[in-house]
Amino acid sequence: MTATGTFPILPGATLGVLGGGQLGRMFVHAAQALGYATAVLDPDPASPAGLVSTHHLRAAYGDGAALERLAQLCAAVTTEFENVPAEALERLARTRPVAPAGASVAVAQDRAAEKAHFVRCGAPVAPHAVIDGDAALAAVDAERLLPGILKTARLGYDGKGQARVGSRAELAAAWERLGRVPCVLEKRLPLAAECSVLVARGRDGAMVHLPVQRNLHRDGILALTEVFEGNVPAAQTQRALQAAQAIARQLDYVGVLCVEFFLLEGGELVVNEMAPRPHNSGHWSQDASDVSQFELQVRCMAGLPLVPPRQLSPAAMLNLLGDLWFDGADADAAPRSPAWDRVLALPGCHLHLYGKAEPKRGRKMGHLNVTGATPEAVRATVRQAAALLGIDAF
Ligand code: ATP
Ligand code: MG
Repeated sequence: MTATGTFPILPGATLGVLGGGQLGRMFVHAAQALGYATAVLDPDPASPAGLVSTHHLRAAYGDGAALERLAQLCAAVTTEFENVPAEALERLARTRPVAPAGASVAVAQDRAAEKAHFVRCGAPVAPHAVIDGDAALAAVDAERLLPGILKTARLGYDGKGQARVGSRAELAAAWERLGRVPCVLEKRLPLAAECSVLVARGRDGAMVHLPVQRNLHRDGILALTEVFEGNVPAAQTQRALQAAQAIARQLDYVGVLCVEFFLLEGGELVVNEMAPRPHNSGHWSQDASDVSQFELQVRCMAGLPLVPPRQLSPAAMLNLLGDLWFDGADADAAPRSPAWDRVLALPGCHLHLYGKAEPKRGRKMGHLNVTGATPEAVRATVRQAAALLGIDAF
């Protein structure tokens, strides 16, 4: 049974989130700006969201007593993390409205189920096969799928749990290395670019969206997002939006959903994956949209009206990884703070740091949003900021 709740849930009430990472922290900031109290469930006493939330329940996501306490405290609950057990969301949903629903999150948790959903929605996907045993491995059509990328069906992020494979022998070895867990083998496609779109869908089925975002990855991690007119050709923009809307609608999704796409060299658009939450590629909306992706998350779960967001200026987002705290040359050197004062001297730079105490290479420590009057001005500022921070030129 699912709790229906009474909507809208107005400011003054308490909103809950499963997971205390940076996405949870920015959700908390948005909820608090609207006048809500917040509760975060996360075992880490120093979790970025826990540090700023009204309440912080320090317990595992599957802890029954903690889930009960969260339900008592909160008028509605969301998640910032797709690997939270879908059962925890379903359990909460017996007494409190939960958005997105456990069933939607369960699809996004499993690449095989996710791909099947995209296919059901008529969205183009990369040629692929599910590898869940020796028979499936032997049945791989090498002609169609190699060279490919083998990805674990569950728990992958930032390119982790993936292996590039060129031959049957490499495929078999990679599957052994990944522990013979269920995987999806995808054909490696010739990417011209990557993009993503965020849609928000309310309980009444109303949908709004942010503009299509162009994304650049480095080493499997998002490095730069650019959002301005013409950054993705109009025909592909339209197709991406329609695909994302169909994917949300056919899940009867409630909340913020990010869908990631590949733009192929021939102009074809292919759906890669989805995230049942705000996404790194939507962070620019904090400073260059009149409604951010986190405010959309709050509005969806609280049953508040969804107004179409309006982009205020061309924008870019630069991810700030822990590498910036270390000098390239010396692997053992103590971390030192990057020159934020110099970056903040550049007009249009908006710094967001997540309050993580320990910088580590590859760890997302924050991001820099850049706004400007024109795409050229934004790009020039991104180049200057990257140079000041020691990020390789774009
Ligand atoms: P995240 O969750 O952080 O977005 P992930 O670990 O789930 O990442 P994917 O999005 O599947 O991984 O892949 C990471 C990156 O690897 C993609 O953004 C793309 O650059 C590249 N990649 C993935 N699949 C393919 C493919 N089939 N062909 C070519 N490049 C690919
Ligand atoms: Mg991805």
